[in-house]
Amino acid sequence: MQKGSPILHGEMDALENAGRLKGEVYKGATMYTTLSPCHMCTGACLMYGIKRVVMGENETFIGGEDLLRSKGVEVINIKSGQCKRMMDKFIKKAPKEWFEDIGEVEDDNEGEKEADIPEDLDSEGSEAEN
Ligand SMILES: [Zn+2]
Repeated sequence: MQKGSPILHGEMDALENAGRLKGEVYKGATMYTTLSPCHMCTGACLMYGIKRVVMGENETFIGGEDLLRSKGVEVINIKSGQCKRMMDKFIKKAPKEWFEDIGEVEDDNEGEKEADIPEDLDSEGSEAEN
């Protein structure tokens, strides 16, 4: 998964796969994500001046959306049920990897109630944002 890298999230992978590009290319670019971009990926989008971020959903997790907006990035949430179901399936199948990806500590007691995990993260993410 992610070539064994803790930082190779979809956004980072997309930037890497795009290769080295001139700055102006990023300025007109749109980043498409399954989920609200985490703070690391938000930082990468800001660093390269990505113009627009289109996310599948942000019910599972809220990353740096407010920061992106505050820096003038257009943020669009298509609120896709398909993306939400995909994330639910992934978290249920690989909770350890999910918590690694978002840099959070998995509460062993919460492991039995996986449906509650995303909402807990949402509120923590919002507090961290402010
Ligand atoms: Zn990320």
